[in-house]
Amino acid sequence: MDINIKEYLNFLRENGVEILASKEMMLEELKKEVATCRRCGLCNERRQTVFGEGNPDAQLVFIGEAPGLQEDIQGRPFVGRAGELLTDIITKGMKLTREDVYICNVIKCRPPENRSPLEIEIMQCELHLIRQLNIIQPKIIVALGKYAAQTLLRTTIPITKIRGNWYLYNNIKFMPTYHPAYLLRNPYGKKEVWEDIRKVMAEYDYTKKK
Ligand code: URA
Repeated sequence: MDINIKEYLNFLRENGVEILASKEMMLEELKKEVATCRRCGLCNERRQTVFGEGNPDAQLVFIGEAPGLQEDIQGRPFVGRAGELLTDIITKGMKLTREDVYICNVIKCRPPENRSPLEIEIMQCELHLIRQLNIIQPKIIVALGKYAAQTLLRTTIPITKIRGNWYLYNNIKFMPTYHPAYLLRNPYGKKEVWEDIRKVMAEYDYTKKK
């Protein structure tokens, strides 16, 4: 039986049953909505949307730019070469797992030929990101690369100038750092990313793990 959770919850509420939907359920509903999104032209190019994945109760959310080819094929964020590096940062660096954190992108559809996202695409898609973060309510965000950092900070200041410092996005602390794809091309940047990640680890509550 294919139940529409939102409708079912409404039905229960209308009949006097008090229900608090879990974050997981709310994310599932939002994911379904995003899967049919036609707010910008990228909907004509994608194989599928890449909503994001991980722990709905995560303390820490990583936000990248947009899906690449592998992500578009698999429907999961950061599963290509840059994803391997991000996984290393999480597991080897932070001693966490991908399942402890939540991983998503500013843009939920792959831009053709991996071109940079347009301003209009970012604006349309940020709506989904904000709703996603409102559900998860993380303690910390790590913005990976120029697009995520500049979108969250509403600035055009280069990532080299803004990385490594704490900022607020809708009242959530966030740390911009270099994108793993940039590190693949410029391994010297790893030293700075490690400095930034150490600051994030100092804020992360390891006693709760999640
Ligand atoms: N780069 C991103 O910014 N996001 C992905 O999901 C993969 C590569």
